[in-house]
Amino acid sequence: MTMALLLYPFTLGPLPYAYDALEPHIDARTMEIHYTKHHQGYVDNLNAALKEYPALHKKSLVELLTSLPQLPEAVRTAVRNQGGGHYNHTFFWPLMKKGGGGKPCMPLLGDIEETFGSFEKFQEQFNAAAKKVFGSGWAWLCLDDTDTLVIISTSNQDTPISQGLKPILALDVWEHAYYLKYQNKRPDYIAAFWNVINWDKVAEHYRVAKSL
Ligand code: MN
Repeated sequence: MTMALLLYPFTLGPLPYAYDALEPHIDARTMEIHYTKHHQGYVDNLNAALKEYPALHKKSLVELLTSLPQLPEAVRTAVRNQGGGHYNHTFFWPLMKKGGGGKPCMPLLGDIEETFGSFEKFQEQFNAAAKKVFGSGWAWLCLDDTDTLVIISTSNQDTPISQGLKPILALDVWEHAYYLKYQNKRPDYIAAFWNVINWDKVAEHYRVAKSL
């Protein structure tokens, strides 16, 4: 699903793999609850928030999230949180796959090595960004407006596109993403994520971001 095509009424898109596809790194029960309850909840709450604002129904999710300051104040926080939740999770699911992991192909690998010193240094910085999120949020690899790769973290469901950044890779570090299997051990969940990354999808985001 191309993100630019997401319009009101928003719907939960298909999960691109079975709930147990990412076992043992991400367990089936967590995937099922995360997708059917949490992601569905963001979709439902976003639709409810926009129901009385027909003028906003022709705006795509991306348009809404990149124009938060211009939205009516009464709906702005809901779009930021629920719309951000829908965007972030729609972006997140295809970044993982069964038998993922390893390293990206060129040119992304070379650009990561050039920007961060090595692939391992990139992993360290990304892990640090994911670990340091206080409370709920996300870690991201993005392309900024000078075409530089940057690692950032965001709080709650804030999304890099609201800051003018183009997301390439994302990791959900809300407790709902890992608590059943990892409890308080967020670093173990972060380490496990590297075994399921779908680098082909990440490279596709990179290719598109560079062309914009
Ligand atoms: Mn989540």
